[in-house]
Amino acid sequence: MSILFDRDNVDIKEFIVKSVERTGGIVDEMGDDLLGALLPPEIAATAASDSVLTLALSQKAAESEPDAAMAVIGTPIMDALIGFASGIGTTSISAIYLDNIRKKGLKEEAERILTYSQCRLRTDNSVPVTVRDCYYAVFHFRLAFVSYEKRERIETIVVSLDTNVVNNVVVEALRSIPTEPIFISADAPPFDSKRIKAAYESAKKEASQRAQTESAAYLSAISRRFQLEANRLAEYYDQTDRELRRRLDKEADQKKRESVITKQHAAKLEKSRKLAELGEKYRLRPRAALTSIQIVRQPKSCFNIFVDKGKQTRTVTLIYDSLLGRLEPPICDRCDCEMTRIFVTGSNEHLCISCSGKGATAVS
Ligand SMILES: [Zn+2]
Repeated sequence: MSILFDRDNVDIKEFIVKSVERTGGIVDEMGDDLLGALLPPEIAATAASDSVLTLALSQKAAESEPDAAMAVIGTPIMDALIGFASGIGTTSISAIYLDNIRKKGLKEEAERILTYSQCRLRTDNSVPVTVRDCYYAVFHFRLAFVSYEKRERIETIVVSLDTNVVNNVVVEALRSIPTEPIFISADAPPFDSKRIKAAYESAKKEASQRAQTESAAYLSAISRRFQLEANRLAEYYDQTDRELRRRLDKEADQKKRESVITKQHAAKLEKSRKLAELGEKYRLRPRAALTSIQIVRQPKSCFNIFVDKGKQTRTVTLIYDSLLGRLEPPICDRCDCEMTRIFVTGSNEHLCISCSGKGATAVS
C-alpha cells in the first residue's frame, strides 16, 4: 500500500507558500527564489516585519533584491511561519547546550564497538578529539488513517543532517532537554537546503514505513468490520432475490413476469453498486503531511580513525554523542545504514553485512 504525502514534492519554497496561504496571507512568485508576500498582521508582528515584503529563498536571490528579507530556516520570518502554520514550536532553529562533552577514551570505545573485517584499524592518539556543531532536522508529520473512521496523530521523525540517518533514540531526549532558540542573521549564508531536502526524503521514507506497519494492523480490524457489513448486505439482497423468484414462479401473466425480471436485474445491479460503495467506505487511505520542520544544533565530539587495507588508508571520521552517550557508528557506503560490523572491499568500500553479501556466516 502506498502512502500519499499531501505535499509530496515539498521544498522550502512550497513550504513557505503553503504556510503563508494557510495563515491567510498571499504569495506571488517574483522570480528565481524570490516571493512577493502579503503577510497577515500577526505573522508580520511576530517576525518584526512589514506586511508587504519580498522574500528571498537563497543568498543569490537576496543579493539580486537588496530589499528582500531572507526566508531560510532559522530566520524570524520562517520561525513565525512555522509557529503559525503548525501550531507547534515557535522557533525553527534551536540549540542544545551540554555541560559535559566527553573527549576521553573515545578511540578505545570505537575499537571496542566496531569490528572491521579484512583490514587493520588504527587510532592515532596524537590527533585530538574536537567538538563540532552537528544538526538534526526534526520533522513533524500528521499521519492520518482514513477509512470508515479517521485516525490522526503527529509523528516526529528526527534525521541527522550530518549523516542523513534517522535517529529514533534522540526523539525522547529532544523532548526533555531544554533548547534555546538561535536566530540566524539575515545576511548569514542560508542553511544548506540540499541537506534538508535529503533529510526530508529520509524522513518521508521512515514515515511511510511507520504508516505501513500501522496500516497493516489497522487493516485486519477494518476488514473484519467490512466483512460483517458485506455479509449483512448480501443477506438482504439474497432475501430479496428469493422473494422475487417466488413471485416469478407463481406469476403466469407475461407482462407481470417481465416486470419481476426487471426488478431482479435491478436488485443485482444495486447489490454490486452497494458492495462497491462499501469497499470504498472501508478502503484504508493512509496520508501524511509535513506540518513543521525544526533544526536542532548539538555539539558532538569528533575524531578520526584510520583503516588500512593493503597499501591504502582510509580516514573515517567518527562522532560521539554525549547527550545519548553513544558512539555514532559509521555509515555503509552503499545503503547509508549505520553499521558496527564493517566489511572493507578490495576497492576500499566500507560496507555493512547485507551489502557485503557475507550474511550471518561471515567471520571477522
Ligand atoms: Zn549497506
